Amino acid sequence: MDKGSSVFRSAASNAVPGGSGFDTLIVGAGFAGAVLAERLANVLGQRVLIVDKRPHIGGNAFDKYDDHGVLIHPYGPHIFHTNSADIFDYLSQFTQWRPYQHRVLASVDGQMVPMPINLDTVNKLYGLELTSFQMEEWLESVAEKKEVIRNSEDVIVNKVGRDLYNKFFRGYTRKQWALDPSELDASVTARVPTRTNRDDRYFADTYQAMPLHGYTRMFEQMLKHPNIKVMLNTDYREIVELIPYRHMVYTGPIDAFFNFKHGKLPYRSLEFQHVNVPQEQFQPVGTVNYPNDYAYTRISEFKHITGQKHPTTSVVYEYPRAEGDPYYPVPRPENAAIYKLYEDEAEAMDNVTFVGRLATYKYYNMDQVVGQSLAAFKRIQRRVEAERSA
Ligand code: FAD
Ligand code: UDP
Repeated sequence: MDKGSSVFRSAASNAVPGGSGFDTLIVGAGFAGAVLAERLANVLGQRVLIVDKRPHIGGNAFDKYDDHGVLIHPYGPHIFHTNSADIFDYLSQFTQWRPYQHRVLASVDGQMVPMPINLDTVNKLYGLELTSFQMEEWLESVAEKKEVIRNSEDVIVNKVGRDLYNKFFRGYTRKQWALDPSELDASVTARVPTRTNRDDRYFADTYQAMPLHGYTRMFEQMLKHPNIKVMLNTDYREIVELIPYRHMVYTGPIDAFFNFKHGKLPYRSLEFQHVNVPQEQFQPVGTVNYPNDYAYTRISEFKHITGQKHPTTSVVYEYPRAEGDPYYPVPRPENAAIYKLYEDEAEAMDNVTFVGRLATYKYYNMDQVVGQSLAAFKRIQRRVEAERSA
């Protein structure tokens, strides 16, 4: 068969003529796609084509130097944290790390106070001098105890009461999601803990670190294999009928894959306003949250996060949007019901693996996506090894 006709063989037929074409076509070069590309090539020796419609690898974790020479995260601040030694060890094959513990202040009632709410937050805000033990009692006295935690409002008022809820969560959440916390699953605000000690770190995970030379460099290392071909600026639909492959890994939005046949799944978007400021430091910590003022939710300053030294500094303002690139699945029961219809369709397809934050409609952090992809790899590996020995 001549080369031309094999190239135009319908990919949907899954027919890969002896040795040509790809074993796996991966849609999306973010964490989900890159982990699978790396594993399939390095462990199974597969030939992998990874396509992304953006002009770069890394998905939302992509980083780059801006025009001023400051390392920024174009899609918002990305801080790596995990409790999993396996996930940390896996990624450590591709990068060295710079230890970094993220700190966040919230601008509330004209003051900058630690977020998550801790002992210092409460003492500063209410002019108190509570000890940790007294704060526990104080929280008991202000909490609105709920028999059942049904949503993102219940989680917070149950723990810290109405006033702190209004000051820190109600406005921020309404801005971020255009929904009241009572309309969102409990899991959304439950991401943010409350502490009665003075620990002011945003995350409490065992491993908290940034890739020493950035995320993009780490992704380059993951994809550095002669069997992995990377195709950028390409929507997979442009090439899916042209390039033969056996199996597909899909990491884009699941509703788009099925042409929205069960309706559109809401994904919340953001507009990022990047600003370089001609001074060494802009704000005291990596992120300042603005729960009640302004149209943006937070400002992050990259040099805190990356450790870069530079005479100027670059910050990003996040403006929540209904339209735009899909960044956040919206966790609430009606969306879970729509997702379930797509998930059932996805599970019925044995030649496509759906993985990642958009394809499985899960509000996952980077480490969770890595864990999910490693688990998906094991399933594919079992299937491929069974086929090989059959
Ligand atoms: P993505 O990174 O979204 O990659 C999917 C890729 O698929 C994209 O590059 C997209 O262009 C491509 N694609 C989609 N459709 C097509 C198509 N039709 N054809 C070709 N390509 C396609 N996590 C943390 O752990 N810590 C943080 O601090 C953190 N901060 C975040 C801040 C923001 C503002 C956001 C939005 C997310 C943050 N996350 C953070 C979450 C993190 O971004 C995700 O967990 C992770 O990037 C998900 O990886 P993924 O591969 O599933 O998806
Ligand atoms: N949240 C809030 N106030 C804050 C920080 C967070 O109300 O100061 C709520 C809000 O609903 C947010 C969710 O908690 O979307 C999760 O916060 P996180 O910082 O984990 O959001 P992400 O970094 O994923 O955007």
